Amino acid sequence: MAAHVIALDQGTTSTRAIVFDRAGEIVATSQREHEQILPRAGWVEHDATEIRDNTLWVLQHALDEAAIDVSDVAALGITNQRETVIVWDRATGEPIHNAIVWQDTRTQAKVDELARDGGTDRFADQTGLPLSTYSSASKIAWILDRVPGARERAGRGELLFGTPDTWLVWNLTGGTDGGAHVTDVTNASRTLLMDLRTLDWDDELCAVWDIPRQMLPEVRSSSEIVGAIAGGLPAAGVPIAGILGDQQAATFGQTAFEAGESKNTYGTGNFLIVGTGTEIVRSRNGLITTVAYRVADEPARYALEGSIAVTGSLVQWLRDNLGLIAESSDVERLAATVEDNGGAYFVPAFSGLFAPYWRPDARGALVGLTRFVNKGHIARAALESTAFQTRDVIDAVVEDTATALPELRVDGGMTRNDTLMQFQADVLGVTVVRPRITETTALGAAFAAGLATGVWADLDELRALWQEDRRWTPAMDEDQRERRYRVWRKAVSKSLDWTDADTEALDAG
Ligand code: ADP
Repeated sequence: MAAHVIALDQGTTSTRAIVFDRAGEIVATSQREHEQILPRAGWVEHDATEIRDNTLWVLQHALDEAAIDVSDVAALGITNQRETVIVWDRATGEPIHNAIVWQDTRTQAKVDELARDGGTDRFADQTGLPLSTYSSASKIAWILDRVPGARERAGRGELLFGTPDTWLVWNLTGGTDGGAHVTDVTNASRTLLMDLRTLDWDDELCAVWDIPRQMLPEVRSSSEIVGAIAGGLPAAGVPIAGILGDQQAATFGQTAFEAGESKNTYGTGNFLIVGTGTEIVRSRNGLITTVAYRVADEPARYALEGSIAVTGSLVQWLRDNLGLIAESSDVERLAATVEDNGGAYFVPAFSGLFAPYWRPDARGALVGLTRFVNKGHIARAALESTAFQTRDVIDAVVEDTATALPELRVDGGMTRNDTLMQFQADVLGVTVVRPRITETTALGAAFAAGLATGVWADLDELRALWQEDRRWTPAMDEDQRERRYRVWRKAVSKSLDWTDADTEALDAG
């Protein structure tokens, strides 16, 4: 049987195709960046046709580099930037507007207006999400409001909506010539239009935004065949058999399938996902409830998700704003010049504090300073803030689920930093484990697609493929751990209540 699976990773800055073999090893990779279109402050767009063209390009190049025949590819899986909105014309295949990217905040006024009636939690029961500009719904509504005639055309079934997974599947399976208009449960769960229990679009929610249901894709499982790549395209004939949003794909690639299993991705910010099995757990601590994955007709698995805005980007800030280091990785050497943080604590609340504090009035604070503190201590405090913030979010998960984490699986750029990973284990009192293949996002999409096409028999077989690279076990005694964490919480308290009428007036100049 065909021995390879291709993952397409349609990310915020680039699109990649990675060819995996049956052992889950990378055989070939191809990548292409696309333009970040920033028409105004707070607006972020992508050209969906550029993304489509890049996808075909990376697909062809990855196949060429792997030097395998298409007959040796069992399936293709897709993972993607979540929430990003594309609306296109069913008849011509052309988008009617640039893609509006998840980071885009142009719809804040509409979100505020809706929140006046029932607060930001008014749809949390059905969707697991707070009302925010982040989700897809307000962005779809914006396009329907602004592009002349769009809402009427959508109502007549002439326009289609999709997140990037949907856009790519439709194009790859034939586009105007019978392309499949589908998404998966994980992507649908980020739109603010899907009911977590029924796993389908909710008419009431569609009515709130005045989004015609005809334009929404069919919601499918994360691991099942949804179509085949059309003739004339790279990898023609290969079934598309897996779709997962990026963070859910990383969790799947980490084989964190069961309740209590988790992954934490350390990038410019952090994304923590902890599985809750078939149970929909509502957070009392400001975490999002989301679909983790659904395999074929099995019940969906759910998860709690917490994100931290500033982690790796604080290292970049030390580099770019303070000039303390030349490269991000130099932070390791600088931090190693000292034994500990020297009493300094860095709360990077650059745009307020998110989960579990939810304090928009907070601002960054570097506290505990004495004459003793030097730049090594500041580097150290910056790294420690990533670990402390992770503990904040994990404590919230533990409180919501009333279950301790057995271990924490990690991936992302910052996990190369051994000092940080050891400190993370110490401050959590939980073992931290890094896999050998850290391309967990693409791997997860490949796993989902291969699972649906018989490349791998079941979740146990995938679990057996996951290989540990390194583990860090807690070495700090509990007294020390809790004492340091209490000081961190005190540092957080110093960052609160910062913005007020005076700071706003001064900011406004
Ligand atoms: P993303 O996918 O979010 O762009 P990556 O997973 O590539 O990010 O992670 C890059 C982040 O990790 C950057 O913010 C960078 O500053 C940080 N980083 C890279 N190397 C190190 C290191 N050795 N120690 C700490 N942080 C690092």
